[in-house]
Amino acid sequence: MGIWFTEHQTANFGITAKIKQTLAAVKTEYQELQVIETEEWGNMLVLDDMVMTTEKDEFVYHEMVAHVPLYTHPNPKNVLVVGGGDGGVIREVLKHQSVQKATLVDIDGDVIAYSKKYLPTIAGALDDERVEVKVDDGFMYIAESEREFDVILVDSTEPVGPAVNLFTQGFYAGIAKALKDDGIFVAQTDNPWFKADLIHQVFKDVKEIFPVTKLYTANIPTYPSGMWTFTMGSKIHNPLKVKDERFTEIGTKYYTPELHYASFALPKFVKELTE
Ligand code: SAM
Repeated sequence: MGIWFTEHQTANFGITAKIKQTLAAVKTEYQELQVIETEEWGNMLVLDDMVMTTEKDEFVYHEMVAHVPLYTHPNPKNVLVVGGGDGGVIREVLKHQSVQKATLVDIDGDVIAYSKKYLPTIAGALDDERVEVKVDDGFMYIAESEREFDVILVDSTEPVGPAVNLFTQGFYAGIAKALKDDGIFVAQTDNPWFKADLIHQVFKDVKEIFPVTKLYTANIPTYPSGMWTFTMGSKIHNPLKVKDERFTEIGTKYYTPELHYASFALPKFVKELTE
């Protein structure tokens, strides 16, 4: 059967993929980092034994984090990505011509370095001239920013280790302060099968701060349960009322205008997490 990598979601369930070879396995200052070449999914980035991204299905997550808020905003110019050291979200952000500057703040410089080496189709955009890369704690960076960004995208690890603070109401309040008066933010908020309490709590926290708070989903085969959620907080703009002319073609594989709206249609058990 060969050697398999398994991400254990609970004591009784995990997702697994056959390993071709392990390309890197290091302990960084903040986490255990592996890059695994798999038979099915291409190169896979793993942090603390959790799948972060794979070459084959990465486009789903990266497009959905970026394009739903960026199309919702009428004219996004200055965008911040917290986490996201693999570069996939930045690559998608840069597809929007209105974007003049995209800043990436990841706490772990090794994630950026190993992604550039082993995931070039994902991380290549980090070298674009519109991009500024900072190795810093996203929580602190947000705390020091004021009315600067049109859109903030939180592409963090799960709420363990360095990412714990990124799932607190204090962080969302900081994001509101760091955004301009019509700003929008989106954070990845895990899956509703095993992390229902987390989604419920984050939604409640964000709703207390942002006038428009919405949850949307995407299907990502290499993330536990396959169903992934994203929580959006917006000061003014409603993602369900985007002007048709905003939807210019930018070269996506998952995101479409129809899917933009459809992603907000939630199964009942997921909708209940927002109530
Ligand atoms: N898409 C993945 C997922 O949903 O599982 C996550 C991508 S991974 C690149 C997330 C990144 O968040 C990691 O590179 C990690 O170093 C970074 N991160 C974790 N805590 C952070 C913090 N406090 N500030 C900035 N970046 C952080």
